[in-house]
Amino acid sequence: MAEGMQKFVETPHARPEKRPAAERRRDFDEIYSSYARGKAAEQSARCAQCGVPFCQIHCPLHNNIPDWLKLTAENRLEEAYELSSATNNFPEICGRICPQDRLCEGNCVIEKGFEAVTIGSVEKFITDTAWNRGWVKPIQPRRERPDSIGIVGAGPAGLAAAEQLRRKGYQVAIYDRYDRVGGLMMYGIPNFKLEKDIVQRREKLLRDSKVMFHLNCEVGRDVSMDALRQRHAAILIATGVYKARDIQAPGAGLPGITAALDYLIASNRHGLGDAVPDYESGTLNARGKNVVVVGGGDTAMDCVRTAVRQGARSVKCLYRRDRANMPGSQREVKHAEEEGVEFVWLSAPQAFLGRDHVSHVRAARIHLGMPDATGRQTPQEIPNSHTNIEADLVLKALGFDPEDLPAALGVPDLGVTGWGTLAIDWRSMMTSIDGVFAAGDIVRGASLVVWAVRDGRDAAERIHSYLATKAHAAPRIAAE
Ligand code: FAD
Ligand code: SF4
Ligand code: SF4
Repeated sequence: MAEGMQKFVETPHARPEKRPAAERRRDFDEIYSSYARGKAAEQSARCAQCGVPFCQIHCPLHNNIPDWLKLTAENRLEEAYELSSATNNFPEICGRICPQDRLCEGNCVIEKGFEAVTIGSVEKFITDTAWNRGWVKPIQPRRERPDSIGIVGAGPAGLAAAEQLRRKGYQVAIYDRYDRVGGLMMYGIPNFKLEKDIVQRREKLLRDSKVMFHLNCEVGRDVSMDALRQRHAAILIATGVYKARDIQAPGAGLPGITAALDYLIASNRHGLGDAVPDYESGTLNARGKNVVVVGGGDTAMDCVRTAVRQGARSVKCLYRRDRANMPGSQREVKHAEEEGVEFVWLSAPQAFLGRDHVSHVRAARIHLGMPDATGRQTPQEIPNSHTNIEADLVLKALGFDPEDLPAALGVPDLGVTGWGTLAIDWRSMMTSIDGVFAAGDIVRGASLVVWAVRDGRDAAERIHSYLATKAHAAPRIAAE
């Protein structure tokens, strides 16, 4: 038995303190405080040190969770940090925003009966401590390599790949159409889940590690893919997915009906101190309004909780399935309910009413019918069941699809799948074009930060192998 561990019977599960809902509603600060050092050690010591750790198997990065929990329990925090950062480029970010209830913690063996080890909170604690103590240092590669890699997209997939490639000594340049680094971590995910200085200190670390950033630079418009291919030995496309799914219903074009991401970007930009005319004019601001959010995923949860903080009069979330079948994290639903959001389960918009502006959503009640080919019960409208819900602002949060990337990048021979995501050979992570790789949401479809990090890391390895093979082959070809 691992000494000092397995304390799950005598030590109750305890997350870091959560701020009261009434206080949370008034600001955009993160809702959990940090563990005090002793508390992190105490909670880590609850781990049973499983021989087959299901937590690790279900973490997309296969983090060495039992070992860093043991080191934390022993107060060997610098070693815990070394270990946790060996498999994850952004442990403090994943610790904050991974849906742990579906990943590591949801598969912790003591979950049944004793509640899971608080893996995410400990991971966040370890890395925040490392930042505070100055253990997180810029990369100084053992040797510099002449080859340069171009990365399109400064979201988690692009950033993770950049860090891994820089560690190997490659010259790395990242191009992003936005003015800030971080992709959806900067402009999609609200501050109350992930404070922006957490992302910005990662950017600074990469800059200090000599990763080059070209911001406000849209590839396909400001610079062509051909030009990038001339400049770089390999290219990684990590552009994410941004085309919002729409609602087909009468009145769907009325003013006051908005795509969720436009609304969240405006809120995040306002929080960052930018001038945002649509926010200031009230178009993309929920203050004093009756807000209806349509959807049941993470984006919908972020919208309802943002609207509460902006001072909405009422906030309702309409979802066509029930609570047990929603895609969003159950933990987020609980936070939202505490903050005053009303969930209208099993209902879907039938029409949007209003003359010059939306005033009501006509919502039909839904019955979950027989399972479809995927095994999920099919939502069916119950005839004559509708009610009219007051709404001055409707936010559509039905998910995202990829845009037509070959057209956007001006590369028609870039292969795509039936879903419009980039087609890659999963062994090499290469697209249909030699030397052009892809990672993150643009390959998987809308997913999670932790999967983007995993893909970015894998792509960096594959790019390295590709360049090594090419370098090895070149002299032989020349000699023939
Ligand atoms: P992105 O983060 O989308 O980054 C892509 C980058 O590419 C962007 O910066 C974009 O500007 C840039 N780009 C695109 N096209 C071009 C071009 N032509 N030229 C130059 N640059 C370009 N995941 C979680 O794990 N936990 C959460 O709590 C969570 N909450 C979310 C909340 C919201 C509202 C949303 C929308 C998503 C959320 N996600 C969450 C999902 C997560 O943010 C994404 O899965 C992840 O960011 C994908 O990473 P990526 O690097 O593939 O793409
Ligand atoms: Fe859990 Fe995410 Fe951390 Fe993996 S990266 S251990 S899934 S919080
Ligand atoms: Fe520890 Fe739970 Fe992982 Fe087992 S599954 S090693 S108890 S964190």
